Amino acid sequence: MDRSGVLLIWSGADFSFAACTALKTRFDETRCPVFVNTTGLSIWMKQSTSPGLIRAFSLLPASESVAKQNSIHLRTSQRLAALQSVTEDRITMIRTANYFQDNYRACCAAFRHAGSRLQGTQILQNRQLLHGMLRLPHSAAADPGIDWLYIGPAGKTERLLLLTSGLHGIEGYAGSALQQLFLNQLLAVELGASAARDTAFLFIHALNPYGFQHNRRTTVENIDLNRNFDTSADLYQTTNPGYDQLNCILNPERLISEADLDRESFLGVLNGLSQSHSERELTEAIARGQYNYERGIYYGGCMPAGQRGVIDSLLQNHLPHFRAVYAIDVHTGYGERGRLHYFPDAQSPEHKAAIQRLFRGYKIDWGDSEGFYSVTGEFVNYIGKLCRADQLYIPMIFEFGTLDSHTPFGGAISVHNMILENQLFHYGSQTDSIAAVVRQRFLEMFYPSDEAWRRAALDQGAAALRRTLQRFHQE
Ligand SMILES: [Zn+2]
Repeated sequence: MDRSGVLLIWSGADFSFAACTALKTRFDETRCPVFVNTTGLSIWMKQSTSPGLIRAFSLLPASESVAKQNSIHLRTSQRLAALQSVTEDRITMIRTANYFQDNYRACCAAFRHAGSRLQGTQILQNRQLLHGMLRLPHSAAADPGIDWLYIGPAGKTERLLLLTSGLHGIEGYAGSALQQLFLNQLLAVELGASAARDTAFLFIHALNPYGFQHNRRTTVENIDLNRNFDTSADLYQTTNPGYDQLNCILNPERLISEADLDRESFLGVLNGLSQSHSERELTEAIARGQYNYERGIYYGGCMPAGQRGVIDSLLQNHLPHFRAVYAIDVHTGYGERGRLHYFPDAQSPEHKAAIQRLFRGYKIDWGDSEGFYSVTGEFVNYIGKLCRADQLYIPMIFEFGTLDSHTPFGGAISVHNMILENQLFHYGSQTDSIAAVVRQRFLEMFYPSDEAWRRAALDQGAAALRRTLQRFHQE
């Protein structure tokens, strides 16, 4: 028996019986031993002679009895039949910690490693794997680039999933984790499913390397990339009168003092504003994007950022070959804590209808819905403008909520964090301890240290990816 690989299935996540059977069939071809297990994963990993070739998947048992049956190592397809009652209602991923790293470089390394361990494996049979790095213009040799990875059928191609992370720098931790999880766990299931035969996958990792590396949302030029993308230069002439009125509050031009850290007093300022503005007006004015204040928050720039050209050339190599494109850009920070919001800003009825088909049964937070806001210069909408009229385009933002920004208090805290971090960057603080508080609040807002939050983010992200991809394969 060829023991160069092991298929290990353990309980705890949401793969359908059909997906398992498809996987098992593929591994039977390579005569790998198959085990189903609920515990002892780490033991198996250590015992394997070639752990890099282990493909591990998990199942959520429909009942305790199934869980007990699975607790014994199983070698036969007969026992796999016991998993037939597995439901797809909820994922619980076990190895969450493996996908979250504490700094930009470790995230890049983990992403590259996830790609490199696919090279030459069975699951890439009849598929090509391409990868590379996009170098931003005017960057020095030592500056980080943007990693990308493409996996697609060698022959006919129909559909493309584009999964991107780190457009907002510091928000890249969760996006990177979801990409790593996809490459390490979901991809093999996807490729084993016959419905995915004509589907390709393009991952772009850490679209804003500077912001990610320095735990900022913006580029080195203070540009918010999700306000910077459009095919028309008119974007940079966009006015935002509501922002003009608030500029002195949003962008104080002085050192941060101890008093500035006080959240209650900032809440008082916002409460004062709410006498003359509705909550919706305030949110739109602040967050929609502005093109006048280059040191201000939500600054969309005066011209395309360096990312635009390199992304264009990468996408021009791939996009034209597909009949349908599903783009997911992963973000964190806004919405209910611990919840994944589906936050598209559909630009056409066709986009909207396609989103509704894929996300049937999910609550969609349209850009014009309560507590959310529409945005100018949005990245996923830009990609839609690069697509031909005869291509189906499905844009989506995954937004993992952290501070309950949909509530007045959470919204105020979120804006306060944004203001202070930006003020610190441009003007500094009176003491180092003030700077540390500002940075810590900002990091917690976009990359919570709470393990439960991280687990919930990956669980929901993986489940939504699986479910919507199954529907995308039917498009
Ligand atoms: Zn974001």
